[in-house]
Amino acid sequence: MSLVEHLKTRITNDGPLSVADYMTECLLHPKFGYYTTRDPLGAQGDFITAPEISQMFGELIGLSLAQAWMDQASPDPFTLAELGPGRGTLMADILRATRSVPGFHAALEICLIEASPTLRNVQKQALSEYEVTWLDHAADLPQQPLYLVANEFFDALPVRQFIRQGEGWAEKHVGLQDDMLSFGLTEPTAQPALEHRLEDTKDGDLVEICTTAPPVLTEVCTRIATHGGAALVIDYGDWRSLGDTLQALRAHAPTDPLQDPGAADLTTHVDFEALTITAAAANCAFSRITPQGIFLERLGITNRAQSLAASLSGDALETLIAAHRRLTHPQEMGTLFKVMGLFPKALTPPPGLEI
Ligand code: SAH
Repeated sequence: MSLVEHLKTRITNDGPLSVADYMTECLLHPKFGYYTTRDPLGAQGDFITAPEISQMFGELIGLSLAQAWMDQASPDPFTLAELGPGRGTLMADILRATRSVPGFHAALEICLIEASPTLRNVQKQALSEYEVTWLDHAADLPQQPLYLVANEFFDALPVRQFIRQGEGWAEKHVGLQDDMLSFGLTEPTAQPALEHRLEDTKDGDLVEICTTAPPVLTEVCTRIATHGGAALVIDYGDWRSLGDTLQALRAHAPTDPLQDPGAADLTTHVDFEALTITAAAANCAFSRITPQGIFLERLGITNRAQSLAASLSGDALETLIAAHRRLTHPQEMGTLFKVMGLFPKALTPPPGLEI
């Protein structure tokens, strides 16, 4: 049995799948899922993320979170958490960079929320010198101050896709045509969750809703609002989603999302407005969404690059210069990726961000 056979059987028995259900099967099926079965990150994998490009990324994130912790009177104990930690590189860089922050390591309890057993093993190795708790759900996070990072986590969550037809919405789904997976549409119906999108869309426009982001983010925000803390959400996307952003990536190249299910990474652009609606409902303040390049420049990435460069030459120096450019330049990750901070009301956002 392969994932494609499993999907065909499921569709034959139960009817077409929403795009969200299709994504969930492809990414997280216990036996065939993309994340459950492999480590997809890095130059040998299908995609590379900011922490895998350079240690500077995690170091600056760590210092921003540690400063937010000090600004809130250094609570002890507190949770240092990450959603979807990949290879554990970002958390390892955060921990190294914050070693000299007085009291930070003595007070922290590290929690990682990770769905993939394969990646949990990789994280275990990367963080072998620390005591770490792995959690299945954000709801399991301790009830105490929470300092959290999520880099390229929300883009991996499944979305439902709807196409406007009159005052209603037809949902895009994955069915079978000539025994091949193919996209189709339901009959249009009213969608209360898309009421506000009747203002800014016209017939034929496609909008996406991520139904699994709100429950996760609500858990994070209620802890921050109740006990203090801060979160940095970093991802590609923008304010309010419009258009089909589902993309499949295999070996660093785009591919058809219905081709080889389970073998390609599937992501969508994050709708930051939707995240702020969830944050506000949970009584949590949020920063302006800020391009990653600007955020990293404000935190001093250029100074950090210069100080690392002082001890490098040849290829290592070229790699560092390329990494700095890749993380910050508008034509690379600098503008497409955005950063949003979450923090208690009446306080200021973590360094690098503004209200
Ligand atoms: N943050 C890392 C990895 C990003 S890839 C980095 O920047 O390098 C997405 C990560 O989220 C992977 O670790 C994947 O296994 C995890 N993930 C995806 N869906 C998840 C879910 N529903 N619950 C928990 N983790 C999930």
